[in-house]
Amino acid sequence: MSMSRRRFVAASAGCASYLAAAGPLLSGRALRRWGGQGARRVVAQTPFARVEELGDGMFAIVSTPLNGDYTTVCNGGIVGGSSGTVVVEAFATPEGARWAAGQARALTGRWPDQVVVSHYHGDHSAGPAGYADDDGGAPTLRATAATRDLVQGSPGDEAAKAPWADVLVVAEDTPLEIDLGSRVVTVVPRRGHTASDLSVEVDGGEGPVWCGDLVWNAMFPNYMDAVPSRLSRAVRALQAIPAGTFVPGHGPLADAEAMSRYVALIDSVEEAARYAWSRGINSEEAAESYQVPAELGEWVMFSPNYYQRAIQAWMDELAGHG
Ligand SMILES: [Zn+2]
Repeated sequence: MSMSRRRFVAASAGCASYLAAAGPLLSGRALRRWGGQGARRVVAQTPFARVEELGDGMFAIVSTPLNGDYTTVCNGGIVGGSSGTVVVEAFATPEGARWAAGQARALTGRWPDQVVVSHYHGDHSAGPAGYADDDGGAPTLRATAATRDLVQGSPGDEAAKAPWADVLVVAEDTPLEIDLGSRVVTVVPRRGHTASDLSVEVDGGEGPVWCGDLVWNAMFPNYMDAVPSRLSRAVRALQAIPAGTFVPGHGPLADAEAMSRYVALIDSVEEAARYAWSRGINSEEAAESYQVPAELGEWVMFSPNYYQRAIQAWMDELAGHG
């Protein structure tokens, strides 16, 4: 089921390459919070992910890679309507995507018709070959042109990248509506985590919102490609959607309270970066003294250098080359 660590690292241009380093940094309390699944019904559970029911025909895929199984790595989801099924994300491996498609068929009665990939990082984009069905067909793969180009330009397995040649491009300035008969899925172009991010929203924002990696929950976010002021604006725009459930790119499902905590977290990073910048303190030193405010609880680290990356991203922007 799982690919080797070497192959995973090669496939992942994104945020999860340092997962193996996360284990020793976790306290029991952080692990329990990260693994928390609230009151929702879990309809499938594997070592690498669980599927939580969000409503009639709608499911969140919540990946659990901290045990070292990198089959899916990122979160995603399944939205079924009377005339089609959309899956959110292509995951870290074809095996993970194939598993997600099987879940879609079991839960909605359909192999996915369409797959939306939120951004180019390998933990979200490396698996589309796994969506091919038994008859050689494949769902429509949707992503922005920027995402497609970044995937195609990234190192990685060429065969695994082949489906990216057939992407149906989502415009970077106009939301795309996908009519599933009994419900409408809206794919909204945003930016901030990378140069081009997508969120996936249901029934005009009344249903769940898949945030891609613009939102992380109980896990400190990766700023490797972030433009932090854009990220901050995008997160606030997502927070303003009156949805009951936000599916973050990583970590357990978020409600309005969790979204507020996340906004406070990224604001605390901004404050620390601006303070250091104004005093000529470099990002390494600033990261050493940065602490997540205690009232925000514990945030799991994918990599010990994420504070420094986040503060450096702000400093790059403050210096005018972000
Ligand atoms: Zn990710």
